[in-house]
Amino acid sequence: MNNELKTNLLASFNTLNQTIAITCDKALKNKDQILILAASKKQPIEKIKSIYDLGVRNFGENYLQEALEKKNKLPSDIIWHFIGHIQSNKTKLIAESFDWVHTVDRLKLIERLSLNRGSNLKPLNICLEINVNNEANKSGFLLNQIPEINTAIELIKTKKNLKLRGLMCLPELTNDLKKQRQNFALVYQLMHQLNKAHQLTMDTLSMGTSNDLESAILEGANLIRIGSMLFGPRI
Ligand SMILES: *Cc1c(COP(=O)(O)O)cnc(C)c1O
Repeated sequence: MNNELKTNLLASFNTLNQTIAITCDKALKNKDQILILAASKKQPIEKIKSIYDLGVRNFGENYLQEALEKKNKLPSDIIWHFIGHIQSNKTKLIAESFDWVHTVDRLKLIERLSLNRGSNLKPLNICLEINVNNEANKSGFLLNQIPEINTAIELIKTKKNLKLRGLMCLPELTNDLKKQRQNFALVYQLMHQLNKAHQLTMDTLSMGTSNDLESAILEGANLIRIGSMLFGPRI
């Protein structure tokens, strides 16, 4: 990888960290509480390796085959997150190859991920995906599907090899900051309600991308999924 690209990646990484620090100051939070998940779909291996060399260890992928090919070529201490839509027939490889799955949106996936998570592996970390704006082209539980969400939580509780860590969302793209914050606040509130109702300690709010990370952090996100702001445009 040429030096110019490395310099550009370092600059993006510094800008991202600065943005996080400034936003955390505003939110009276410690910036160390925010985990950067590098959303590396459709990014070349050289760029991913450079971001790794800057200290990032959490990477998120959307497409199974692409992810498996990359995983083979990258250091083994990377923590891999699946953040794409899950087809049921892919659950076995996902359960075997990832540390986290952010996009659990139906009961069948819970059964299949548990069935296929080997007993030699640590429990698979799970986030339930929430479709905040009721968008037809997105997956996830709707905010008003509380009975379905409750059933999913109770099912996960019965699986020793799954660990429910929190909620994930990808709200509609908007540059209206007020709207962004309203969307994220709804998911924050939902997680706290669910924790109370089920006596859980879900600790992860996976929300915020390059476009809206500041609003997400201000509304309680502690895991932000950043792609283009770090890597540049996807190929
Ligand atoms: C691609 C992707 C991201 C990153 O989006 P950017 O706008 O590139 O930061 C985050 N979350 C999910 C689920 C994605 O698919």
